[in-house]
Amino acid sequence: METKGKENNIENVVIIGSGPAGYTAAIYAARANLQPLLVTGFNSGGIPGGQLMTTTFVENFPGFPDGVLGPELMDLMKAQAERWGTNLYESDVISINTLKPPFEIKTLDGVIKSNSIIIATGASANRLGIINEDKFWSKGISACAICDGATPQFRDEELAVIGGGDSACEEAAYLTKYGSKVHLIVRSEKLRASAAMIDRVKANSKIEIHWNTKVEKANGVNWLENIEAINSQKGPVEIKVKGLFYAIGHTPNTKFLNNKIVLDKKGYIACKSGRPETSIEGIFAAGDVVDSEWRQGVTAAGTGCMAALATERWLAEKNLSKTIIRETTEPEKTSSSSFNEEEANEDTFNSNSQWQKGSYALRKLYHESNKPILVIFSSPSCGPCHVLKPQLKRVIKEFDGAVQGIEIDIDKDQEIAKQAGINGTPTVQLFKEKLLKKQWQGVKQRSEFKEAIQNII
Ligand code: NDP
Repeated sequence: METKGKENNIENVVIIGSGPAGYTAAIYAARANLQPLLVTGFNSGGIPGGQLMTTTFVENFPGFPDGVLGPELMDLMKAQAERWGTNLYESDVISINTLKPPFEIKTLDGVIKSNSIIIATGASANRLGIINEDKFWSKGISACAICDGATPQFRDEELAVIGGGDSACEEAAYLTKYGSKVHLIVRSEKLRASAAMIDRVKANSKIEIHWNTKVEKANGVNWLENIEAINSQKGPVEIKVKGLFYAIGHTPNTKFLNNKIVLDKKGYIACKSGRPETSIEGIFAAGDVVDSEWRQGVTAAGTGCMAALATERWLAEKNLSKTIIRETTEPEKTSSSSFNEEEANEDTFNSNSQWQKGSYALRKLYHESNKPILVIFSSPSCGPCHVLKPQLKRVIKEFDGAVQGIEIDIDKDQEIAKQAGINGTPTVQLFKEKLLKKQWQGVKQRSEFKEAIQNII
């Protein structure tokens, strides 16, 4: 595809956000030959890919009769957006200048100019702020059951989820795979989740629902041991749990707008009902950042489509679009999903391979390799792991054989996870000659891994 048409490096459209709204907007804008630039986000506002990256099976997205893993669905949307010519830019937006086109979009890594913007920054998971929350954060308290549920400390222990929406119900059901019992703690006397989700929770004998209960304090020594709550009818209650997971809703990611765009009373971007135009001409919005009511993957995708079509029309009307001529009318098909990679075994292990999976490969390299080894501990449906893996693979590729990477699925290799002291995923450990040199938890920039490897090479 030619990149001509972008005058003075001014983009036709910059899409901010990489959830279903952002990627759908990108697919439509790319197919309109606008070659959109999509800023994926990195740390602020949750992980790239949005909220579906921290979900297990999405069973209500049309076209997937047996459900699809949230991270896999996002992978497919991303591949589709890229296939049609979307350029991805991995960074966080700090602010935007909304005076007039071309708008300036300031990111952590530089300034981008664009004639139009689609804001699709979604919403971030809320924290509760109970007493001792910071002390036990990642030591029993987590905002992501789907990411952290499989860690060894939660196995066969009693766990708790706070919330009464679809997320809380889904997470409670998911955690019964690992915990001996799950306490679902609801502040009112009703669940607001969908009927199918409520049925699933009520039918699960490992879930106990505590109605009218508010958690106030977490206790323990080095790890969470119990929570103190107030039940509005029975008074104070203590529940012994080794894990506490928040699923108490989300706050729209609008901080970077600095009130330059009109928000509604709840803090969501105000658009005319059913329309993607914001208070600033040329700036459109889609997905959960405008939607306090429906907030579904499919509605986000729908509004992403609307925002892209409205942007295309607006750019044409103002004579601002520079369409990009494609070299081929049929872009190459996408490669298949990276899910279900095979584990290395005695027959398939390769001591020179840059990236392998499983405990067999880890044991072999740990004992026999004199190169740095980067180990990522992941769990099956962990979205952040899915974001981090390609980043690590890129780092390892750049070292051209001087570093080796291993992925350990902590669900399959519980013993190894226990020995390594893993209490959440993704965790990355860097070893050299059997010594642990550094450890990271969560999604980090590639530069952090590169620097640590440089230091020991
Ligand atoms: P919701 O906003 O729907 O629910 C938040 C829940 O947290 C409510 O039950 C609320 O209680 C409770 N809550 C809020 N603040 C507190 C607090 N301080 N203390 C205790 N409880 C609190 O958020 P969700 O993340 O569950 O869902 C967001 C959207 O995503 C929804 O539209 C949902 O349908 C969708 N979703 C869909 C899924 C699917 O279909 N597979 C899976 C997950 C989410 P109260 O009810 O009293 O206000």
